Amino acid sequence: MVKNWLDHYPEEIPASIPYDEKPLHTFLQDGAARFKEKKALHFMGKEISFSELYLQAKKMAGYMQSLGVKKGDRVAIMLPNCPQSVISYYGALMAGAIVVQTNPLYKERELEYQLNDSEAKAIVCLDLLLPRVSNVQGKTNIEHIIVTGVKDYLPFPKNMIYPLIQKKQTKMVVKIEESKNIHLWKSIFEQENHTFTEVPINPKNDLALLQYTGGTTGFPKGVMLTHYNLVSNVQMCQAWLYKAKPGKEVVLGVLPFFHVYGMTAIMNFSIMFGSKMVLLPKFDVKEVLKTIDKQKPTLFPGAPTIYVGLLNHPDLNKYDISSIRACVSGSAPLPYEVQEQFEQRTGGKVVEGYGLTETSPITHANFLWSKRVNGSIGVPWPDTDSKIIDVNTLEEVDAGEVGEIAVKGPQVMKGYWNNPEETEHVLKDGWLFTGDLGYKDDEGYFYIVDRKGDMIIAGGYNIYPREVEEVLYEHEGVQEAVVAGIPDPYRGETVKAFVVLKEGYQLSADELNHFCRKHLAAYKVPRLYDFRRELPKTAVGKILRKKLIEEEKEQFKVQ
Ligand code: AMP
Repeated sequence: MVKNWLDHYPEEIPASIPYDEKPLHTFLQDGAARFKEKKALHFMGKEISFSELYLQAKKMAGYMQSLGVKKGDRVAIMLPNCPQSVISYYGALMAGAIVVQTNPLYKERELEYQLNDSEAKAIVCLDLLLPRVSNVQGKTNIEHIIVTGVKDYLPFPKNMIYPLIQKKQTKMVVKIEESKNIHLWKSIFEQENHTFTEVPINPKNDLALLQYTGGTTGFPKGVMLTHYNLVSNVQMCQAWLYKAKPGKEVVLGVLPFFHVYGMTAIMNFSIMFGSKMVLLPKFDVKEVLKTIDKQKPTLFPGAPTIYVGLLNHPDLNKYDISSIRACVSGSAPLPYEVQEQFEQRTGGKVVEGYGLTETSPITHANFLWSKRVNGSIGVPWPDTDSKIIDVNTLEEVDAGEVGEIAVKGPQVMKGYWNNPEETEHVLKDGWLFTGDLGYKDDEGYFYIVDRKGDMIIAGGYNIYPREVEEVLYEHEGVQEAVVAGIPDPYRGETVKAFVVLKEGYQLSADELNHFCRKHLAAYKVPRLYDFRRELPKTAVGKILRKKLIEEEKEQFKVQ
C-alpha cells in the first residue's frame, strides 16, 4: 500500500494554508509596521532597519512613477545582492511594475534579448554595468536607466575591491553624467519625496515577476509569476521552517536575488518573517566563512556546490560556523557526504529541496525536524500535489517507476510570457510538467533521477548521470564531479566524468576508474575522465553540464 506523503507531515506543518491574497510588496509595508527599527539588512558592515527600507522603497516607487512607470510596465534590475537590489525590487513592485531580473554577468547579446522580449521600460543597474546597458539601449524600449554604485551605501574602504568586479575593471574610472534618461541613485534619494500613488493589484491575476529561464527546452523564456504565486511560496517556506522564530532569525544571503530561489527563500521570506538578511554580492568562499563567523546567521538556503566549497576550504577550521541551524539545499542533487559533513560542522540541519523557476520555485523538500530520506527531494509542500507521469502514455505510473514529475499548486506559474505554445507544452489542466525524471517510493517520498534531456544512451543502455556522480562524490579525493554523455562514433554517446579534486589530492584516471568499477555496472562507468581546476556553474552554483557537452561537441566536429 503506497502511503500519502501527508501522513508524514508533523503536526506543526498544515497540509493547507490560508494564503494572503495581497500584493507581494505588502510584506515590506507590514514588516515595517511590525518590526520597525529592527535591522532588515546587513551589507558589509552597514545595517538598514525595516522602517528605513520601506521608506526607501516607497521613495523609489514614487520616483519610478514620476518617470512614467505604470501598472504592468516591466522594470529590469541588473544588480548583485546589495541594499539597492532589495529597494529597487520592492520599489518597482509598489509602483505597480513587473520586475524582470537580469543577471549582472549577462553579456550584451543576452541582455538585449531579455530587455526586448520583456519590453522593459526602465532598468536599474550597477554603475560599472552602465556601458553594457547603454550599448544595447538604442535597440530596446528602455527609456530610463537608474544607476547605482556600491558607494551609494557604503563608506567603502580604499583598499577594498568590489568583489563582483574584476581587478582590471576597477581601474576604470566611471564618470556618469546625469541626463534626461540617466538617473543617479544618490540624487534620487537627495531629492524631495516624489508623490507615490498606491496601485490596485489583483494578486491572483497580476504579475509581480517575469523571470527568465531556459526551462525544459533551454531557450530563454519569461516565466510569468503572479503576486499570489510568490506570496504563497513564501508562506509555505514559513510553514516548513516552523521552528524558526519571527523577528529573530538571521538569514545568509549568498544565493543571488536575481534567481528566483534566492529571491523567495532569502529576500521575500526574510522581509515577511522579520529576519535580518546578511547580503553577500558574490560567492567568495572565504568571505562567506568570515561572514558566518561574524554575523552568526541561523538560516542558510544554498546549493550543493556552495556547501561543498565551504567544507573544502583550507581555513574552515579557523571559523565558527555553528550558528547555522537550518539549510534547505536546492537547484541540484545534494550528495549524502556533503549533507552529513555540513551537519557535523554546523550542528544544524541540511535537507534537500526541489523546485524550478516555473514554480516560484519550491515544490518539494525533506522535513527539517521530522522524517527525512537521504537521496530524496522529500515530499510535496502544503497545497502542492505531485505525480509521476509516463512520458509516452502520459498516464500516472506506480510507485517505484520512473517518469516525468508533474506538480500542481498555488506556486505554479501563469505561463510563459508571449509564448502560448511553450505554455501549452508544459501546463496542462493546472499541472506543470517539469521536464525532470523521477519516481515516488511506497512512503510517498520523491526522488529525482535526472533531467529528461540529460539521460545518456551509450551503446543502447540508458545511464542517468546523477547515479554515476553520486559514486564519484563518494571518493574521498573528489570535490566536485559532473557526468555527461559526449558524442561517440560507435556507442552513440559515451560517459565522460569532469572532476575537480580536493586541494593537494593526487588521483589518476585509472584509480578513479577502478573505484567506479567497484560500485557501478560496467556500462555506467565513465570511459573518459577530465580533471579540472573548476567547473562552469550557474549563478546559483548549478554545474553547467550542457556547457561541457557543447564544448565536447565542438571538439568532436573539429576532429
Ligand atoms: P531553475 O529553474 O533554474 O530553478 O532550475 C530548475 C531545475 O533545477 C529543475 O527542473 C531540476 O532539473 C533542477 N533541480 C532543482 N532542485 C534539484 C534537486 N534537489 N535535485 C536535482 N535537480 C534539481
